[in-house]
Amino acid sequence: MRDSKGREINYLRLSVTDRCNIRCIYCMPESGVPLVSHNDILSVDETIRLSGIIVKAADIRKVRITGGEPLVRKGVLDIVRGISSGHPGELVLTTNGLLLRGMAKQLDAAGIERVNISLDSLRNDRIRLISRRDIRLEDIEDAVAAAFDAGLDPVKVNCVVMRDINDDEIEDFIKWSRETGVTVRFIEHMPSRLSGDTFVSRDEIIKKASAGGEVVRQKDDGTAGIYSVGDSGQTFGIIAPFSDPMCSFCSRIRLSALGTLHSCLAQEEGVSLKELLRNDAGDDVISDIVRGAVMNKPDSHGGCVHAKMWKIGG
Ligand code: SAM
Ligand code: SF4
Repeated sequence: MRDSKGREINYLRLSVTDRCNIRCIYCMPESGVPLVSHNDILSVDETIRLSGIIVKAADIRKVRITGGEPLVRKGVLDIVRGISSGHPGELVLTTNGLLLRGMAKQLDAAGIERVNISLDSLRNDRIRLISRRDIRLEDIEDAVAAAFDAGLDPVKVNCVVMRDINDDEIEDFIKWSRETGVTVRFIEHMPSRLSGDTFVSRDEIIKKASAGGEVVRQKDDGTAGIYSVGDSGQTFGIIAPFSDPMCSFCSRIRLSALGTLHSCLAQEEGVSLKELLRNDAGDDVISDIVRGAVMNKPDSHGGCVHAKMWKIGG
């Protein structure tokens, strides 16, 4: 459906958990997130029912399962099956990849079409530092291989660029993406728990990528700008919520694991659909509330994006 600014809203990001098996320095507190009781999180059936209502009410064409880490959610395959059976559009998933090797084929069979995998460095010492866990590059390369093997491609790899942490790896990532067959997308770091001047702008990323040849913007893919580098035909993406906000084309809404609908990443409050559901509201009532929230989607994030990505669904 169109919102009051005429934007086509057709993309639901569905967070199925606020928990995670790692602790990225820009996302989660080292000690983990404050524990929310299981009863406060949408059940599998509630998740399927609410997402079905949202999909119909707003004519959603794409659903992304996210989190927290969606693959730690008990029942995630049931959620995927439940959504895919009633949803004619795209169904995709974002993961840190650690559990993907054992689940890729089941995810494919359940209805996931492709996956995005997050990886912020190609160096084991830095992967450890950023994730605060003993993860190695080969773990993520195994996940990438499992995704290809299960047909969950094209595989995109998302890398949050942070000054003095991994911003010297742009060229290496582009080379690595050529070797592995993934598309790498660099993400501008949004304000987070990480202190200091960690922000690296789109222009700086382009400058660093230019070491491999002339960088030319080719097209847009959702919120990412797609660039070619040199004559090799190699491409990469940049998601630049600050340098290139794309709010005027934003097509997204989000449902958190707590059952709250957020029509913008900057919208901390949102509308509790869980309360309506648990108070026996019918599909029609919930649909009207969903359409109202979509209609009133904010014009832009105004530079004030939600830092708790694990909570709202990154
Ligand atoms: N756990 C999954 C993962 O890491 O892919 C899915 C959820 S995670 C919140 C989704 C994406 O949000 C990841 O690619 C992550 O790098 C990104 N993200 C989290 N915090 C961010 C921040 N402060 N700035 C930019 N991207 C961020
Ligand atoms: Fe977990 Fe993803 Fe957040 Fe990293 S970015 S801590 S993998 S939810």
